Amino acid sequence: MTIESHPPLEEYLETMWYLIEDGIEVIPTRLAERLGRSLPTVTQRLDRLVAEGYLLRPLGKQLEFTQQGQKLAEGVVRKHRLAECLLYQIIGLSYVKLHIEAGRWEHAISDEVEHLIMTLLANPLRCPHGNPIPYGTAADAAITSSGIRLNEAEVGVPLRLQRITEELEEDEALMTTLVDNQIFPGGELCITHKDSQALTVHHQGHFVTLETKSAALLVVDPFTGGPQ
Ligand SMILES: [Zn+2]
Repeated sequence: MTIESHPPLEEYLETMWYLIEDGIEVIPTRLAERLGRSLPTVTQRLDRLVAEGYLLRPLGKQLEFTQQGQKLAEGVVRKHRLAECLLYQIIGLSYVKLHIEAGRWEHAISDEVEHLIMTLLANPLRCPHGNPIPYGTAADAAITSSGIRLNEAEVGVPLRLQRITEELEEDEALMTTLVDNQIFPGGELCITHKDSQALTVHHQGHFVTLETKSAALLVVDPFTGGPQ
């Protein structure tokens, strides 16, 4: 299924949410890159979303959500991540396929079913990739992503993988590499070598070399040895 079959409004708002979450500038060029569409197409659609009251574009500044846009984006992201939890924990879909499958489900889950999934799974705080599930409550802030990108970490420092960004989840080959080496959120990692092009991480007897741009899509925390 290509991105073309996703409702554009939800797809644009969701992508904007991910850019904000990953600390990436929310400008039309970045959205065009992430959506795989041309800049003129994206600009035109963004103008419509501004006119329809979902987005604000303060002159010379980054795009922002209106309250309405924020609520809609949050709902799509919540359904996406709850669907990933359901598909993984209950249905048993392979870890590598979760993101793509949930991309279909997120547009189809009703609010009623969403609540049933939340109850079934006891209101999970993060998706299987470690990304926070937004519930639109004050408690959200407590699990808002922190941490640093793996490529920014020092050699020899014990690290814990906090989350695999949505951008990396789309890369099936890279996801397979992580799964083959048993690298999941919560796992302990340590960089053993790093240069300008790539770095090597050690994890439970596995040594995995990742390009710097791939490592930048993994978020890590210092490993303190305590509970996650
Ligand atoms: Zn995902």
